[in-house]
Amino acid sequence: MTYYADLTPYAYDRDWAADATRLWQGAPVVNVGRLDRGRPYEQGVVPSELAAVLNRMRHTHRTRQTRGFHFCPLCPSPTSGSYASHPYGSAEIWVRGSDVAFAAPELIAHYVEAHAYLPPAAFVQAVLATA
Ligand SMILES: [Zn+2]
Repeated sequence: MTYYADLTPYAYDRDWAADATRLWQGAPVVNVGRLDRGRPYEQGVVPSELAAVLNRMRHTHRTRQTRGFHFCPLCPSPTSGSYASHPYGSAEIWVRGSDVAFAAPELIAHYVEAHAYLPPAAFVQAVLATA
């Protein structure tokens, strides 16, 4: 997966992002949670229900399903025989905030649970508002 800093304009899907006037639910789309190995990211304490809500959103807010899948870049690399249990994702979660829409990889739930990732406050607020 390609790394993008939090709250930068969404550009992962180049076909879609090529038109800069494209909005989602009336708002510009920004990246959240596009973490990668070797890139620093915010860590901290999140509301206790955040991971559970994000895991539910993997089903309720799932979008942009890809044909392949992506292993967690922060966990030790999978070895043969461990692929089935290695965290992975193959889609995104999109949620509308007050001023922007957030596009996150579905692995964001795992990043919060297993890697102490602290998403931007506006994203956390938008996610919890869906619960
Ligand atoms: Zn991981």
